Amino acid sequence: MSSQYKHLLEPLDLGFTTLKNRALMGSMHTGLEDKARDFPKLAAYFAERARGGVGLMVTGGFAPNVEGWLSPFGSKLSKQSEVKRHLQVTKAVHDEGGKICLQILHAGRYGYSPLCVSASKIKSPISPFKPRALRSKGVYRTIKDYANSASLAQQAGYDGVEIMGSEGYFINQFLVTHTNKRTDEWGGSFENRMRLPVEIVKSVREKVGTNFIIIYRLSMLDLIEQGSTWEEVVQLGKAIEAAGATIINTGIGWHEARVPTIATSVPRAAFSWVTGRMQDHVSIPVVATNRINDPQVAEDVIARGDADMVSMARPFLADSDIINKAKAGKPESINTCIGCNQACLDHIFKGKRSTCLVNPRACYETELNFSPTATPKRVAVVGAGPAGLSAATVLAERGHSVDLFDKASEIGGQFNIAKKIPGKEEFYETLRYYGNKIETTGVNLKLSEEVDAATLINAGYDEVILATGIRPRELSIEGANHEKVLSYIDVVQNEKPVGNRVAIIGAGGIGFDVAEFLTHQDTTANSDIAQFNKKWGIDSEYKDRGAYGHADPQAPARQVTMLQRKKGKMGAGLGKTTGWIHRRSLKMKRVQMIRGVEYTKIDDRGLYFSIDGREAQVIECDNVVVCAGQVSRKDLLQELDNAGVVTHLIGGSKLAGELDAKRAIREGFELAASI
Ligand code: FAD
Ligand code: NAP
Ligand code: SF4
Repeated sequence: MSSQYKHLLEPLDLGFTTLKNRALMGSMHTGLEDKARDFPKLAAYFAERARGGVGLMVTGGFAPNVEGWLSPFGSKLSKQSEVKRHLQVTKAVHDEGGKICLQILHAGRYGYSPLCVSASKIKSPISPFKPRALRSKGVYRTIKDYANSASLAQQAGYDGVEIMGSEGYFINQFLVTHTNKRTDEWGGSFENRMRLPVEIVKSVREKVGTNFIIIYRLSMLDLIEQGSTWEEVVQLGKAIEAAGATIINTGIGWHEARVPTIATSVPRAAFSWVTGRMQDHVSIPVVATNRINDPQVAEDVIARGDADMVSMARPFLADSDIINKAKAGKPESINTCIGCNQACLDHIFKGKRSTCLVNPRACYETELNFSPTATPKRVAVVGAGPAGLSAATVLAERGHSVDLFDKASEIGGQFNIAKKIPGKEEFYETLRYYGNKIETTGVNLKLSEEVDAATLINAGYDEVILATGIRPRELSIEGANHEKVLSYIDVVQNEKPVGNRVAIIGAGGIGFDVAEFLTHQDTTANSDIAQFNKKWGIDSEYKDRGAYGHADPQAPARQVTMLQRKKGKMGAGLGKTTGWIHRRSLKMKRVQMIRGVEYTKIDDRGLYFSIDGREAQVIECDNVVVCAGQVSRKDLLQELDNAGVVTHLIGGSKLAGELDAKRAIREGFELAASI
């Protein structure tokens, strides 16, 4: 066992049971919780993670009653008849030597349902339904429902429950005056407002007895105006301990908070300091969370005394085996979560099953599998971007002989551009992972080799996979070749000099990233937690309620204007859970956004455009950077087809529209699993 992670891998004795290490797989809604027919898939998903060595897991949230639904007919555990389906999950986990708690989540006013209830009748800014204010007897009934749900979880074989008391859900809504305007015994003083969670924990403990884990997820940082003070958080933490909780987990930020808390631009372990503050006030184990995506980061959090355990959620989607790999001293083989949210949270918000951009098998454990090939082939994969890397490594793992070509001197394709964007440094990790995978699977890597069709035909491969990606779309307006015009590749990858005044043509994902790149002060490392807190107004001294103070971003490095032809919202195609962060960040950097334009020309003065056919305007600028989308690069296809070579297209070379790394990696995986 690796001594590198001795704190992380140390068992945790809870008195009546012992966790084999300090890693908690945090609660994630996967979309498999809602229907009984999906439970075999859910069981396989958890079993794989239990096999991966994690100390304790928490399910996605289950409502204790219909009023607490996240969405109509969503996950709920309130009836005896709902127990049976869970037995599959608990058995599968226990058979693999794991432990699992069920999360009880009452959505309160975040419920996407007309039946939703809350402390008071105040609509949340992120939900269309105005909640009904619960009467006092309704509150007592809800407490009973929590206890009932916990008892059913116990009957279903769970090792415990987690009571979700953070992220702005029902319990949080009682805690702060922002959402609790009551005048009865559940409102007014903090003692009254915190009565609900304390009574819930007490009644759950009474119902389940002593030998059952109760985790309470405590909102340590609300990050909203009129959130809890630090003194209130501590008072609640102590009361929760006294009420019978076994473990206190950390919650960071209400969902309506305008501060990023888990996106890739959040520095690693950016919030463990607040869990560290709680350590001194309670004697039960506390868990740090958010953007802990690597065993070394986890180890450091525990070693410096910020927490007894760490919660990692999405990292277990990206790699079910992190803990085993850490134990074996092989961190270089971990497929690291890059914090993109593209396939996990963004899917959930669209009502789709969650998965992972870097691991398409996540939540598809029973469906997306491959086995060793019975008929090994010689396969050429052209292009070592995400699509080619995914295909080549799966093919080699299955026993095919694979030559992987790239004309560049390093693997990664466009990820080598993406990783240079401030806040996207995690993309390096995916390339490290694939670099390691190429070595361990025996892919024959041929860098700095631009292959042509003749070479591939003459080499006599059984099959060829073209993963040759894209070309940036070129402009066809007057002055498109003016010396001040640069492509995003010139700017980010080739680091060509850029002047102080810049116009960016195109406001897709790349336009936004380039604007971030150009406005970022070179001196700021994105891992700088103090700088992150300053930018977003996080008050690490906790002087203000909710630890939410005055945002103080750095001055922009350049004056940037972004333009698009569409009249709709700028960045409309960005991720549901991250688009607002990109927009807000650029607003702070005073980036001008102009939509509905028609470009007319570029000359020494700058970029000319008109809106609705009116007189042309000009943006005077030193450079125009083109981020106008991409077109497929499938140059070799025709010749290979003509020669009768079995040829496949994946990723950008197949289709440039709507391309992202999620699709590229998944296509590579699926094709390679089928050859
Ligand atoms: P590519 O990554 O383009 O790789 C193609 C490879 O083929 C290249 O390495 C090229 O050198 C090689 N090649 C081409 N022709 C030949 C030849 N004849 N011989 C040898 N080699 C050849 N996607 C996301 O999902 N999330 C993001 O946050 C994100 N951010 C991005 C930020 C930026 C700044 C950029 C530029 C892209 C970003 N993307 C993002 C897009 C993502 O990187 C692409 O969707 C993905 O890389 C496409 O993968 P691919 O393998 O199809 O093609
Ligand atoms: P994109 O998202 O399709 O955006 C292209 C932009 O160019 C649009 O703003 C479009 O707006 C404009 N455009 C299209 N044709 C044009 C033309 N002929 N002349 C001028 N402008 C034109 O593509 P992208 O920004 O190049 O990104 C490529 C892919 O990488 C995307 O599909 C995306 O998924 C992925 N990516 C994702 C992220 C992320 O954070 N998830 C980040 C970066 C990249 P108008 O047509 O309105 O002008
Ligand atoms: Fe992490 Fe992105 Fe995968 Fe979600 S989709 S688990 S954020 S890498």
